[in-house]
Amino acid sequence: MNLPPKLSFAHLPTPLEPLLRLSAHLAGAQIWIKRDDQTGLAGGGNKTRKLEYLLAEAKSQNARTIITGGAAQSNHCRQTAAAAAHEGFRCVIVLSGRAPAQASGNILLDELLGAEIVWAGAELRTAVMQSTFEKEKSAGNAPYFIPIGGSNPLGAASYVAAVQELQSQIQSIAELKTASPAFTHICFASSSGGTHAGLAVGGKAFLPETQILGLSVDEPLDHLKAIVAPLATATAQLLSLPYTFTPPDIHANADYIGAGYALMGNRERETIRLLGRLEGLLVDPVYTGKAFGGLIDLVQTGAIPRNGRVLFWHTGGQPALFAYADQLS
Ligand SMILES: *Cc1c(COP(=O)(O)O)cnc(C)c1O
Repeated sequence: MNLPPKLSFAHLPTPLEPLLRLSAHLAGAQIWIKRDDQTGLAGGGNKTRKLEYLLAEAKSQNARTIITGGAAQSNHCRQTAAAAAHEGFRCVIVLSGRAPAQASGNILLDELLGAEIVWAGAELRTAVMQSTFEKEKSAGNAPYFIPIGGSNPLGAASYVAAVQELQSQIQSIAELKTASPAFTHICFASSSGGTHAGLAVGGKAFLPETQILGLSVDEPLDHLKAIVAPLATATAQLLSLPYTFTPPDIHANADYIGAGYALMGNRERETIRLLGRLEGLLVDPVYTGKAFGGLIDLVQTGAIPRNGRVLFWHTGGQPALFAYADQLS
């Protein structure tokens, strides 16, 4: 495997821990967690790994301004703002909708981290991202464009490296090292597909007996697989790994989207409270609360068998909790 150059601002390796009280409570498969909500900078999350590679490319191209975008409560934009500040870039983020009367959650943090926010308003966010890039370019500000979620092959490559990191952690924990496989499943929240693609490639290279199961938080099943498969193929190619993926090669589940993207229902709310009280662990209303709620259901219904061992890859998102305070308290 040929990993591209990267910067080093993430706190790695992230902890790998068993969730003993939750596993006892559910009395099903053993559940472990990989704490990518603890990747450092301003609150952590899965985008920080991707940004180590993306900002290295931005530097190599002598860029001075980072342009990206996302939903109003985008964790990706907040982590991009933090990484850009840390590396001395200007950062412009395009957010969906209009500025709220009172900035909270990730929007407040974006401002504190010095990002310039462009609100897309009634326009299409992708179009505004593109026009913002063109404007910065004509102004001579040397912009570097990061797609939604940092989900291109370079960003996804960070999750191939992350599986290598996990594999070496497994080797240092006797209970996991002697099990075969160490984990029957790896579950995580999937949306723009970069994490999913990277984990699929990394799984194939380093943990071939483990099912890499992305839980969709927004995309219908066929659409998600159609995004992830070509991205995984391109990521493998970037790393000189001889793998190709078609949609049937990608494991995904879209049964726990609930009311839709960023909409919190009872399952998400109960999952947030259960993990808080049993494990002292925070998951978020948009991504990890949905995905972990799905994992719990898969364990309770036996879809993930009792003798299995499942890893939940925590991707972060906790700042959004504060933006949902009125629905959580
Ligand atoms: C962005 C994000 C995801 C989804 O990752 P993708 O690579 O975009 O699929 C999951 N969880 C959290 C908390 C995120 O911010």
